[in-house]
Amino acid sequence: MDTTTQFRGVAWTGPEQLALEDRPSPQHTTSNEVVIRIESVGVCGTDVTIWRGNYPGVPAGTVLGHEFGGTIVEVGADVADRAIGQLVAVDPNIVCGHCPECATGSRALCSERRLMGLDLDGGLQTQITVDASQTIPVPGNPDPKSLGLVEPLAVGVHACSRAGVTSGARVGIIGGGAIGMACALQARSLGAGSVTIVEPDALRRATIGEYGVTAIAPGETPAERWTVAIDTVGNGTTISAVMGLMERGSTICVAGLAEGGTLPPSKDLVHHELTLTGTFCYTSEDLHTAAELLSIHGLAALPNDLVHGLDQAPAAIASYAAGHLGRGKTIIIP
Ligand SMILES: [Zn+2]
Ligand SMILES: [Zn+2]
Repeated sequence: MDTTTQFRGVAWTGPEQLALEDRPSPQHTTSNEVVIRIESVGVCGTDVTIWRGNYPGVPAGTVLGHEFGGTIVEVGADVADRAIGQLVAVDPNIVCGHCPECATGSRALCSERRLMGLDLDGGLQTQITVDASQTIPVPGNPDPKSLGLVEPLAVGVHACSRAGVTSGARVGIIGGGAIGMACALQARSLGAGSVTIVEPDALRRATIGEYGVTAIAPGETPAERWTVAIDTVGNGTTISAVMGLMERGSTICVAGLAEGGTLPPSKDLVHHELTLTGTFCYTSEDLHTAAELLSIHGLAALPNDLVHGLDQAPAAIASYAAGHLGRGKTIIIP
């Protein structure tokens, strides 16, 4: 390997600007840390929001990437349960560890939560040093390129849990992006009776069909009323539309953060005795469930487009921001 380019990272330097920078050689500084050679980094809407300069408080120079994993190449002296060569995903949430939310594993709700790739450097680099407790071993023999899928899969696992998906449920999902597909995968693993995704993009509908999930366009009527719905878009229009498709007494879980999201009039909720709930991020347990899903399904867990080389990352993120969504999750292989 060329030593002059051995340690590099893609840093956000200002609106619509990314710089490929040399990085210092990563070393563990405490005995509880591990060094990871990063093998896989997912790109999502949050990265695009940061790239545009629309995410307040992100320090210029931050290395992007909160969906990532790789191979452990160095282990601190006090780390007993991780080994060199082990493949892990990284939990990018850094939390206080002692508040009531942290105690229950609901790390996303910790008031001191900081996110790698947003508040501090993330995974879009060749190597990273993290506390060993931030790593999630992926069982089996996963494709290293798939490791960046654990984080978005965990979002789907948590959404299904919050929505109360159970065996036999008729599940509707609004939006066929990575989170919608992660919800579909987990719903099927929970034994859902049917899963239907509403997706406006024809290419994505075709891809969803290849994954064995029913895809319909917005405005089309599903074959049966849903007993559970997960809205990964979350604007007022989508939530209103979902309400008209639900069985009485059913649950709608909102996962999307669309700007201008508003809730529909309360009378529909009341007359049909619907439960409306929200979902954010995931728990520690959800990450482990996601790692198991990945070990079963591998790189095919979610539709994806691989981009090879950190130097290709700025163009890939700009293309995603321009609306070229591709088949699914963009994964950068450093
Ligand atoms: Zn993400
Ligand atoms: Zn906490």
